[in-house]
Parts: sequence; structure tokens; C-alpha cells
Amino acid sequence: MNIGDTTDDRDLEALQAAIGGKVVVAGQAGYDQARQAWNLAVDERPRVVVVAQSASDAVKAVQFARAHGMRIAPQGTGHGAAPLEPLDGVMLLRTTPMRQVGIDPATRTARAEAGAVWQDVTVPAAEHGLAALAGSSPNVGVTGYTLAGGLGWLARRHGLAANSVTAAELVTPGGDLVRTDAGHEPDLFWAVRGGGGVGVVTALEMRLYPVPELYAGDLFFPIKRAAEVLDTWREWTATVPDEVTSLGHILRLPPLPELPEPLRGRAFAVIEAACLGDEGTGAELIRPLRRLGPELDTFAMIPASALGQLNMDPSQPVPGQGNGAFLADFPAAAIDALVAVAGPDAETPPNSVEVRHLGGALARPVPGGGAQPSIDASYLLYAVGATPTPDMANSVRAHVQAVKDALAPWHASYDYYGFEDTPATAAAVLPPDSYRRLQEIKAAHDPDQMIISAHPVWPTRP
Ligand SMILES: Cc1cc2nc3c(=O)[nH]c(=O)nc-3n(C[C@H](O)[C@H](O)[C@H](O)COP(=O)(O)OP(=O)(O)OC[C@H]3O[C@@H](n4cnc5c(N)ncnc54)[C@H](O)[C@@H]3O)c2cc1C
Repeated sequence: MNIGDTTDDRDLEALQAAIGGKVVVAGQAGYDQARQAWNLAVDERPRVVVVAQSASDAVKAVQFARAHGMRIAPQGTGHGAAPLEPLDGVMLLRTTPMRQVGIDPATRTARAEAGAVWQDVTVPAAEHGLAALAGSSPNVGVTGYTLAGGLGWLARRHGLAANSVTAAELVTPGGDLVRTDAGHEPDLFWAVRGGGGVGVVTALEMRLYPVPELYAGDLFFPIKRAAEVLDTWREWTATVPDEVTSLGHILRLPPLPELPEPLRGRAFAVIEAACLGDEGTGAELIRPLRRLGPELDTFAMIPASALGQLNMDPSQPVPGQGNGAFLADFPAAAIDALVAVAGPDAETPPNSVEVRHLGGALARPVPGGGAQPSIDASYLLYAVGATPTPDMANSVRAHVQAVKDALAPWHASYDYYGFEDTPATAAAVLPPDSYRRLQEIKAAHDPDQMIISAHPVWPTRP
């Protein structure tokens, strides 16, 4: 490897010799591949990419960055790359190869290295009849998702993924590898659970829940029925127990050959739900929705590892532009506003607009929980569109924003960390008390803002 002639360059060569992973600088072969985020619309151009293979690699990378006054952006998949600030002069620290996962059925816990994606955990956990608090996509990274809170298919029963984390191993901005848990480094442990990055996480430990199977699936209706379907779904959400987590979805599917023929290139109103319990109880719960007469009904008993298919998230990297908002309420007037901007007669709506039902365990503060101890919003909006060309990016961004704006009267006081795809500060995506505590933690551990996170926290100054 020959990186260049400056002292920094020679030191980078020494870093390459010292780690098991890779060090790639701009202009070198492999740079474009190493810097590529899952969201293909994001053009990350860091000074150097370090692809870590182990916690020890991450420690050496952080120590190098500290010694050279370089800032670090930790990243796994790059699903959440959109909100990041420009990475000029920055070290992009990718944990992609660090995907080892251990499941302990006796203690019902999992330990996932920082580069693991959800299917790395959910599939082996399901072999023991256990479920992790994964989200809608099996390819999203465990770490970025959990640091953002983590709203998944079992959220109304078991809360945010962040609040089921029992320990986080991380490299501090000072370059030390520490294990944080309820008894060690409690501030860092609190911050990691829903407050974004305060260090470079190398592994997370989390609780798993006994779910041998559950009743889950989708009901598809022609998009022209969107108002009626969403209305019925919204009324139904007020009646269901915490065992049911569901969402209402307006979905325009592309004409891709890999999609089943009845779905390919068509637009739908979809209700998706996961019901913990047996088939009889689940079928009884969704009976009011079935009465609407769906065109397609996929409900069945499935292992928790199959929940990743429900929302039909893209399985391969795509260019996209999204945005979301917590909603204090989602009354009939909000449905009318949503259908006007995204329903059958909307002119250029985003491909996917979904409203997730919150409440249940999410609304109850978790004793000893992290930076998002509870969520007092009732629903969560997320709109996203594909942007195959840069020209389309501007118009999709505008349409996504139009959907968010249409529901402004019902916005809660802050947005969801994981669905805020603009570079908003963490103050826009966290409760005010949490943001203030994060500022103090940042001041104590990272006063120079060495660690870049999706939504920055500005340290308090004495
Ligand atoms: C298709 C799709 C489906 C989604 N579904 C859901 C869902 O159901 N529920 C939900 O809550 N969210 C969901 N999200 C949002 C998702 O949780 C966020 O985008 C999250 O940031 C992705 O995490 P990642 O690790 O894959 O992404 P990355 O882009 O790799 O990471 C995102 C951020 O996390 C931090 N981070 C990542 N790794 C580390 C590390 N090792 N150390 C320190 N910080 C780190 C960094 O700040 C980084 O910028 C979805 C997103 C997409 C694109």
C-alpha cells in the first residue's frame, strides 16, 4: 500500500500495518466501494475510510484520529447516512465486517458486534423460539437502529430496542475500549440507548423475548380505498391490546420482476400487523379489518424472524429520500390531509407513506431506561421515495416534505430520531431533558465533537 508522502499519509500506512481491517484513502483503489452507503443517494467523501474487523481495529482507528486531530463518523450499513454532515477531512469508520452474533438461550440475551444487521440476530434467535426487537427491515444495522431508539414489530408490547440493551461495548473518544452497563460508565450507557453516538460502539448486548411464532401479515386493498381503509385501521388501533403492533401504509410498488405478479407495479392501501399470541386470538383481533374485504390477505402464524418481510422494505441498496414525524394524534381530519397528498389522486406522491401505531409499552417510562425513556406520541409518520437520478432527488425531497407538512397540525413536539433524514440536531429528535443531559455527557467525554453522529449534540460550555 502506498498512500502518499505527508506525515499523515505515512502514519496512515502505519495504521494499515497495525490493523486487521483496511485503510483506504481518496484516489486509492477500493475507495468508492469502501465509502458507499446503503442509501445510494448519499455521496460520502471522507478523507479516509477505515474498515474495522475487530474492536481492536476500532481502538487503533480512534487513537489515530485523536492523535491527528481528525473527526470520526462511525457507520455500519449506511442506511442512516442521509442526515450526516459532509465528511470532508473526516475518517469514516466502517464496522461492516464485524457481524458476529452470539445467542444465549439460557439468559435470553444476544450479543451482536457493531456491524451486524438485524437478520444476523433474528434468524439464530428464532431457532431458540426467541425474538429481538428488530425493525421492519432485516438489512438495517442493529447498532444504528438501536442508537436511534429502534421501533420494531413488537414495540407496543416490549418498547424501544434501545431500552432492551443490557450492555454496550464502545471506544470512547479518548481511545479506551470500555464496557458500559447499569453499573459501569452509566452516563455513556444511558446516552447510547437512544441518544446516538457518543463513542464508537463495538458490540451491543440485548434482551430477547420468547416468541416461538406469532400471527402477522398484510391486508392489501386497491389504493382508491385508502381513506376508508386508514379510517377503519385508525379506529381499530384504539381497541387493540399491547400485543398488537400495526401500521397503515400507502404503497406504490415499482414494476420489478422480483415482485409477485399481483403486486408488481401497482398501488395499494395496506394494513400490516404483528399480533403476539396464537392464531385464534390473532384472527379474532384482525376480524374488523378483514371485514373490509382485502384483495390479498397474507396473515399466518410465522416465526419472528419472518417479520422482516411484512413491510416490503428494499432488500438491496437504493437511492432514497425520506422523512418522518411523531404524531400526537391521527384523527379523521389527518387521514383526509394524508390522502390528499399521498392518496389515489395525488400528483407526485412518494413511493411509500406509512403511519405506525405507537402507545402501549412505548408510552410507559422505562425505569433505568436510556435517552428515550418513553414516547408520548400516538403515531409515527414516515414517507420515502426512490431517487434514481440527482434531478429526482429535489422533487422527491419536496414531496416527502409536503407529506410531513400536511400533517403539521398533528405533529408531536419532536420527531423520531431514526426517521429524521435531515441533518437536524439531536434537539429536534429527543425530549428536551434528554438533550440537555446529552450535552453534559458530550462536554465531559467529547468536548471537541470528534465523534460525528447522525444528529449532533452540541456540548455545553462551562
Ligand atoms: C429501509 C429502512 C427501514 C427502516 N426501518 C426502521 C424501523 O422499522 N424502525 C426504526 O426505528 N428505524 C428504521 N429505520 C431507520 C434506521 O433505524 C436508521 O436509519 C438507522 O440509523 C440505521 O442504522 P444502520 O446502522 O443501518 O445505519 P448507519 O448509517 O450505518 O448508521 C446510522 C448512524 O448510527 C450511528 N452508528 C452506526 N454504527 C455506529 C457505531 N458502531 N458506533 C457509533 N455510532 C454508530 C452513527 O451516528 C451513524 O451515522 C429504517 C431505515 C431504512 C432505510
